[in-house]
Amino acid sequence: MAQTYDVIVIGAGPAGYVAALRCAQLGMEVACVEQWINTQGNPALGGTCLNVGCIPSKTLLESSEQYQKLKQGLDTHGIQLGSVELDLQQMMQRKHEIVAQLTDGIAQLFKSNGIVWLQGRGKLLAAHQIEVTAHDGSTSLYSADHIILATGSSPVTIGAAPLDGERIVDSTGGQEFTEVPKTLGVIGAGVIGLELGSVWKRLGSEVILLEAVDQFLADVDEQIARDALRQFTRQGLDIRLGARVVKTEVGDEHIAVYYQDQNGDHTLTVDNLLVCVGRIPNSDGLAAPEAGLLFDERGYVHTDEYCQTNLPGVYAIGDLVRGPMLAHKGSEEGVMVAESIAGHSVNPLNHDAIPWVIYTHPEIAWVGKTEQILKTQGVPYNVGTFPFAANGRAKAMGESSGMVKILAHAETDAILGAHIIGPMASELIQECVLAMEFSASSEDLARTIHGHPTLYEAVHEAALAVHGMALHKVNT
Ligand code: FAD
Ligand code: NAD
Repeated sequence: MAQTYDVIVIGAGPAGYVAALRCAQLGMEVACVEQWINTQGNPALGGTCLNVGCIPSKTLLESSEQYQKLKQGLDTHGIQLGSVELDLQQMMQRKHEIVAQLTDGIAQLFKSNGIVWLQGRGKLLAAHQIEVTAHDGSTSLYSADHIILATGSSPVTIGAAPLDGERIVDSTGGQEFTEVPKTLGVIGAGVIGLELGSVWKRLGSEVILLEAVDQFLADVDEQIARDALRQFTRQGLDIRLGARVVKTEVGDEHIAVYYQDQNGDHTLTVDNLLVCVGRIPNSDGLAAPEAGLLFDERGYVHTDEYCQTNLPGVYAIGDLVRGPMLAHKGSEEGVMVAESIAGHSVNPLNHDAIPWVIYTHPEIAWVGKTEQILKTQGVPYNVGTFPFAANGRAKAMGESSGMVKILAHAETDAILGAHIIGPMASELIQECVLAMEFSASSEDLARTIHGHPTLYEAVHEAALAVHGMALHKVNT
């Protein structure tokens, strides 16, 4: 007979493991199926985010930024340094250790919350039944009152640049190079291309990004994207827009990348090639056809705004369903579904208040609507901006490029969007997210006392600037 649980979660990424934890906190008997085998050959929890995504990439971004800072020198601070050497092996080792600490931490949390980890590949057979294929190939059946699908996503591959796992790699391989490539080609100047491109540029690679679309960071506020392109180009990232890769040839020494743009045909020669052109949901083989689970035309599991699928008692969350592919979006969906199963009254996610961050230098962060979207939608709005160049803390940090931009409704003054490029944008944006979650006006933010000297004062001044009341710049 199949073993029975209150809830079975398939997938232990930030969507699935958070759903499992919250269900357990609410008193349910929970099992979580996870198939991940890490680079050391061990089963691991945490999914893409902890193993090969958010955490290792941010670890490398931090290490490479420290290296570059020291390499460039601290002369203006009055600090003289000796020579600065790169130990890439140690940098990678540190990354592995951080990943191991965090993924082991999830295993500990599972244990202390009584969550059973079913190691292997899960498949939905019917509304309340799943099959798990263990790593040794044996299969077992389990049933549950509620099943939460959280199998995440995988990198998109393209025929023009097939991966070989060594020299042509996806985002996972792009965090594992054992030597700094002399030249690194990157296909796709999106979030991953810019983050990992920055890592290797800082460590010494010549980095060339080939982006199919003519517009740089099309989803970002245009004013911010223009500033970002200017700053990245100044750092030496070679970003080529409107570049369509036709084919690649892997030679003994180099890789030839053939691409076309509006000026014709080109060939680029690189040592390594990183392909990061988006991600697709892991929905293939997730459910037996007889289960009748509904997918949309792009392979996402179809759900309503409460993450309920077309099958009673079956939910889907995270990268597997519509919406931004972000760890925090999946985690919040996990909490919502767990509480809804427990019978709590829940609200659907407020998609207008999901923050985005690109961890480049400068960082780019935003929430809500961009100016170009408001124009397209015909929404009347006021804009307030404030440059970090006029912020004392940013000056002291030597990080005075970029700005904060706040968009507020022209009639109600409700904050509709906030866009930041500059130091600690990833942290600063959270104040704007909180403001929007509580339906604050730009005046609410402007009347809130901000500590001095802080980067947050730039957010404060941008809110003041919405009504021409900024104090440390000339209002226009
Ligand atoms: P995943 O994390 O993909 O987890 C799904 C899990 O399900 C995996 O462990 C997988 O092994 C398991 N699984 C799949 N199929 C089965 C099955 N049939 N049976 C059992 N288990 C199965 N997002 C951010 O918010 N911030 C960032 O800074 C950020 N940086 C990123 C950097 C990189 C390089 C990458 C690649 C992604 C990054 N992301 C970031 C995106 C983020 O990692 C994903 O949005 C997030 O991991 C999605 O969570 P999830 O739980 O839905 O899926
Ligand atoms: P992306 O959608 O951010 O960028 C992909 C880029 O590749 C786009 O600009 C697209 O126009 C371009 N492209 C598509 N096909 C192409 C082709 N054939 N040739 C050249 N360019 C092509 O996707 P990504 O960078 O692969 O990242 C995937 C997702 O992972 C992100 O959308 C995000 O949801 C998540 N992620 C988030 C973070 C973060 O939050 N900081 C970091 C990394 C990844």
